[in-house]
Formats: sequence, C-alpha cells, structure tokens
Amino acid sequence: MKKIALIAHDNKKQEIIQWAKENISILSKHELCGTGTTAKLVSEATGMTVKRYLSGPLGGDQQIGAKIAEGEIDVVVFFWDPLQAQPHDPDVKALLRIAVVYDIPIATNEMTANYIVHSPLLDE
Ligand code: PGA
Repeated sequence: MKKIALIAHDNKKQEIIQWAKENISILSKHELCGTGTTAKLVSEATGMTVKRYLSGPLGGDQQIGAKIAEGEIDVVVFFWDPLQAQPHDPDVKALLRIAVVYDIPIATNEMTANYIVHSPLLDE
C-alpha cells in the first residue's frame, strides 16, 4: 500500500477527477491525500477517502512537501497548469524540488500518472 498525494491546479481539476475515476480500482488500494480542494473534489467524485491538507495557495503544497521530507509520501500526482501563473508559484517549485531530492515519483501530466499507477513497482 502506497501513500499517494493528489494535487491539481484549478484548470486541471476536471482532468484529475476524470483520471481518478478511470483508475479507481488501483487508487482505492492505496492511501490517498491531497491539497484541500483537489482532495475534496476527488473524494466527492469517487467516494474514496482522501486525506485533506490545506488548499495549495494556503500552504497545502508545503504541507505535502514536508510529508515527503518525513518519508510519509511515496508518489505524487501533480497536474499543474503550465498556461497560467500561480500566486503560490514558489511553493510549486519547492514541491517539485523536494520530490526530486527524495527521489519520489511525481507525475506532472496524465500520461506519466498512468505509467506510474500501472507500474509493477507500485506494489513493491
Ligand atoms: P487545491 O490546491 O487543491 O486546494 O486547489 C492545489 C494547488 O493549487 O496547489
């Protein structure tokens, strides 16, 4: 069982909801968490339990980054919006950085997320 964090910027929320629905049989075997709004929307749309951190712009990305540093997160699915500036851009960058520091798989688009959840490594 892996701990998987879900984060999506506003223009990517529908995409992550759809992706979570498509992969519910896999995701439901793992422990999910996410930034506030993403966690709420995914949970409502799929019925899965998704632990909620703060909303991203209010510190949620930093909370998830801290959990990575503590060894509490195994995989991140982070659909960030490459076409719109974010008020919390430094937090976004920090999260990407800390995921690399701790060698955490971090999917920043749907295809990569699919490769990760379908990898046999997810069950190791
Ligand atoms: P949210 O945060 O899920 O609370 O919208 C995502 C983000 O913008 O980092």
